[in-house]
Amino acid sequence: MPTDGTREGAPGERALRDAGLRVTRPRLAVLGAVGDHPHATTDALISAARASLPSLSHQAVYDALRVMADAGVVRRIQPRGSVARYEARVADNHHHLVCRACGSITDVDCAVGEAPCLVPDRSADGTDPAAGYVLDEAEITFWGLCPACAPAPASRPEQGPASREAHRD
Ligand SMILES: [Zn+2]
Ligand SMILES: [Zn+2]
Repeated sequence: MPTDGTREGAPGERALRDAGLRVTRPRLAVLGAVGDHPHATTDALISAARASLPSLSHQAVYDALRVMADAGVVRRIQPRGSVARYEARVADNHHHLVCRACGSITDVDCAVGEAPCLVPDRSADGTDPAAGYVLDEAEITFWGLCPACAPAPASRPEQGPASREAHRD
């Protein structure tokens, strides 16, 4: 086990081992970058991973992302209109809010906590289109405008956190 730059028991090492993957410096560098930059694009991850491992090639980053996504160490998401993005938050069945204007992506916890948290309704004629399916995931993307992009409401009764002064007595 090389000891340069990697501490034993680092979270990345453990995630790789638990997934049955060999622990390599490129994988650790890329996984660290994904953890530090949730929902980042491959290009952004190349820059971020090179900050810790300058010798990383583009191909090494692509390979590490593919292998780790296949093994479930990272999650690959691709909202329509976007390039693929990666995150290290896996296996919690969380969902995403995506802003139509700026493309920002925000995690939202799964209300149920486990997949599939949503199952199809019956059709209007009473038949069940999911009959016979073994469902294991509902991938939910909420689309809209983020607070920065949404038009400001005409007037806001209270701005920011309410003052505590009134409750001092
Ligand atoms: Zn936005
Ligand atoms: Zn996410």
